[in-house]
Amino acid sequence: MLERTVSDNELTAWDRDHFFHPSTHMAQHARGETPNRIIKGAEGVYITDRNGKRSLDAFAGLYCVNVGYGRTKITDAIAAQAAELPYYHAYVGHGSEPSIRLAKMVIDRAPQGMSRVFFGLGGSDANETNIKLVWYVNNVLKRPEKKKIISRWRGYHGSGLMSGSLTGLSAFHNLFDLPFSQVVHTEAPYYYRRPDRSQSEEQFAQHCADKLEELIQVEGPDTIAAFIGEPVLGTGGIVPPPKTYWDKIQAVLAKYDILLIVDEVITGFGRLGTMFGSDHYGIKPDLITIAKGLTSAYAPLSGVIVSEKVWRILEQGSDEFGAIGHGWTYSSHPLCAAAGVANLELVDEMGLVENARTVGAYFRQGLTDALGAHAHVGEVRGEGLLAAVEFVKDRHDRVFFDASEKVGPRVVAALLENGVIARAMPQGDIMGFAPPLCLTRQEADVVVAAAAKAVKSVLG
Ligand code: PMP
Repeated sequence: MLERTVSDNELTAWDRDHFFHPSTHMAQHARGETPNRIIKGAEGVYITDRNGKRSLDAFAGLYCVNVGYGRTKITDAIAAQAAELPYYHAYVGHGSEPSIRLAKMVIDRAPQGMSRVFFGLGGSDANETNIKLVWYVNNVLKRPEKKKIISRWRGYHGSGLMSGSLTGLSAFHNLFDLPFSQVVHTEAPYYYRRPDRSQSEEQFAQHCADKLEELIQVEGPDTIAAFIGEPVLGTGGIVPPPKTYWDKIQAVLAKYDILLIVDEVITGFGRLGTMFGSDHYGIKPDLITIAKGLTSAYAPLSGVIVSEKVWRILEQGSDEFGAIGHGWTYSSHPLCAAAGVANLELVDEMGLVENARTVGAYFRQGLTDALGAHAHVGEVRGEGLLAAVEFVKDRHDRVFFDASEKVGPRVVAALLENGVIARAMPQGDIMGFAPPLCLTRQEADVVVAAAAKAVKSVLG
């Protein structure tokens, strides 16, 4: 509650003068040239701003409000936990009931072979933890040279120093002196943009695996510690891998004794229509990154799920070197953990994994039917409730529009005018969708109709 009523003009002035927004053009925003949409409330899949304008949030915030807005089961759980115990740390063996319960719930849902959960606050810090654990493991195993991490171009793993280095999008490197030299990037499994159009999905998957092996050889197998990837590329364009990609990548990693970190920040807890993306693609991770769907963003919480294989080495390390020197003040914060417990129960009660699968297929078919044949739509793709429409100047030759035309952002802006929020993905003219997993078929129809209208208004 604010102390007094603040007018819209006053709030906007304070925002322009004092609020440093993430991923925002700073000068334009300060000059009042970018939108300053202040969101006030939300219910189900709809958000409402201070001017009373309602929009269907077909991106679930930032792919995170999986159960939808206004779920009192979660807000009540947070309030009850705040009244009982708002905070206590988890260092040196301490804990709180919701953190312990949540760890058990996560492992019960995780792919086979996973045994422990370390909690953080967001996806970026969880990936920092991952890399520290990988380095720790190789120090314990007395192979100090084996430290480099392979990530993919177009991968997104956060915007911290190491997590930003793992990210394979130049906007997150430029002017920050990133990536760090311990990170090297390999080819993105982007079938639509494959260099050789004659390749089948399997052939292109083999090409990606060959490129990975080539890179390992060039760098030296004894220097490569881990490979990190999202089951489906997310912020890099919402790109599912070509068939057999993960089998072929895992075969290369096994050959060179390289750990596999699967970043499931977007795909964890149902988005692809399976509990984890690893289940969908038959991936056997050594470490898994989770965040977003863990609490549906009702409170900030991330985690690293550690396999039994890695855990054994961590235990060995602590017997040799003492307690691990890693942790955050807010690791397994009780309020966030309480949100996580209630959220995962709700995912089950509402049948959201199944809904993501069935309504996801219905939604993507709707997008394909409405837009698949459009002269400027190159591809409609996705998996579960993750979908993308890629725009091209020339459909036959897959020629990009000039970036200055801002086709993607213009279509997404037109869509917002039609009452639906999508995301213009940062690289290429790609309109991305990641709606709450509770989306109904009727709501999917609303999104598809609005998208078709927006594309027509911008591209004819
Ligand atoms: N990994 C993936 C796959 C993500 O999509 C994101 C966020 N979009 C992150 C990591 C980083 O998470 P956060 O923004 O919570 O730090």
